Amino acid sequence: MLSGHASGRTGFMLVRRKLVERLRAQGIHDPRVLAAFEDVPRHDLVPEALWGQAYKDTALPIGEGQTISAPGIVATMSAALGLRGAECVLEVGTGSGYQAAILSRLAARVISIERIPALAQAAQAALANLKVRNVEFYLGDGTCGRPEDAPFEAIVVTAGGPEVPRPLLEQLALGGRLVGPFGPRDAQQLLRIQRTGEASFTQEVLGRCDFVDLVGRNGWLP
Ligand code: SAM
Repeated sequence: MLSGHASGRTGFMLVRRKLVERLRAQGIHDPRVLAAFEDVPRHDLVPEALWGQAYKDTALPIGEGQTISAPGIVATMSAALGLRGAECVLEVGTGSGYQAAILSRLAARVISIERIPALAQAAQAALANLKVRNVEFYLGDGTCGRPEDAPFEAIVVTAGGPEVPRPLLEQLALGGRLVGPFGPRDAQQLLRIQRTGEASFTQEVLGRCDFVDLVGRNGWLP
């Protein structure tokens, strides 16, 4: 049964608890990550016509040909960043603002870049309504990162690019983690990269995935 149809944290609370149980069953065990998913009202970040699907493990359209990612993959990516609470995180691809709202519970500061103005504005307004105060929004090409705010302890890329953008690797702090989908469009892999030295990185494949295009100077051509 739904707990109600209100906006904000109290709306759909029971459904969110069920989502958290499913995430736990899928192998997400970090209590801070699970608490963030229980807390963030995903329905407030999708069109009202889609509220009935807001807590299914599926991507949903948010306009401009873009999607809000499925909760399961957002949870996998958030957990893979290994956040403790004091970090500054860069997100490439604000979209609906859902991943940014989750990260706002897991890190001290979130810098989120989106290339489509209408989405950036809508996400900023939605997160203001949710009283999220530690996310900064920028409009632009996130494949270039934000050198003025680097280095970042964590970077999450939420659109699929042909390869890991070099500027993002350069803007990763020593010991920092970058998580995102990369590779050919029909065979994207979710990668976790860790910076282990000035010019050394380790790379781990977390699984296959299917994201919308990362479009930009160090991504796919528009
Ligand atoms: N994190 C988003 C969320 O929680 O809703 C995921 C949104 S969607 C899967 C990916 C987003 O990346 C889209 O909004 C798209 O416009 C954006 N995007 C694609 N290329 C980009 C780039 N170079 N810089 C910034 N945003 C980009």
